[in-house]
Amino acid sequence: MTGLIPGAPRAGVGGPATDRAVCVLAPNPSPMTLDGTNTWIVSEPGSGLAVVIDPGPLDEGHLRAVVRTAEERGQRIALTLLTHGHADHAEGAARFAELTGSAVRALDPAQRLGGEGLRHGDTITTGGLDLRVVGTPGHTSDSLCFHLPADGAVLTGDTVLGRGTTMVAHPDGRLGDYLDSLRRLRDLASEHGVTRVLPGHGPVLGDALGAVEYYMAHRANRLAQVETAVEAGYRTPAAVVAHVYADVDRALWPAAELSVRAQLDYLDEHGLI
Ligand SMILES: [Zn+2]
Repeated sequence: MTGLIPGAPRAGVGGPATDRAVCVLAPNPSPMTLDGTNTWIVSEPGSGLAVVIDPGPLDEGHLRAVVRTAEERGQRIALTLLTHGHADHAEGAARFAELTGSAVRALDPAQRLGGEGLRHGDTITTGGLDLRVVGTPGHTSDSLCFHLPADGAVLTGDTVLGRGTTMVAHPDGRLGDYLDSLRRLRDLASEHGVTRVLPGHGPVLGDALGAVEYYMAHRANRLAQVETAVEAGYRTPAAVVAHVYADVDRALWPAAELSVRAQLDYLDEHGLI
């Protein structure tokens, strides 16, 4: 039998990642979601209470696998958090709240269920576990990361992925915000001892500072390419994508076009084109 079992670890993805974080992989792989969505169960060692970050898509088998994984660890899910409202992270949240009785907290009021909002600087304490909310708009306007200080880790949703780079989901996502958010994550890595990235898709990264610096360099590089393409006469977002993203899988071009629109806005706002 070659079928993938929901929640079963695949090479480099899924399973325990740090002392406090365990990944259950959702069965929704695609060019955009890589191996699938990483649903994270986070808890203090020895505690009977756990926090889930991003229940993932509305897939009953996956949601039940998350509950079962927590139960096998002797835990009840006390709280659900969302890194942002995209369906591959949040669509299953309402059903997951039914299954677990947990409140759902998010930045976007439309994504919350029986729980308060979340803001940059908030600390969430559950069963002795501390998570700090890091505001990281850019991929979307409601994107958050969660700093897990005890493990020197940050859960990044779609702001930093385990492979490749992410998109700026124009018009909700904005490049200027995204660059500010990368600087915020760089400070977290360089000044607050964060070494590990637990992403929303793809494998765990062991060099958080290196990953964020790579993202910053990549964004600067793409921005320069887009600026050059416009100067060379490529005027429409689609024409810029075909020129600048020629090296990228065509399945990702629609997403790349959103990023290009965000980059064109940014260049325009800064008087660069
Ligand atoms: Zn997303």
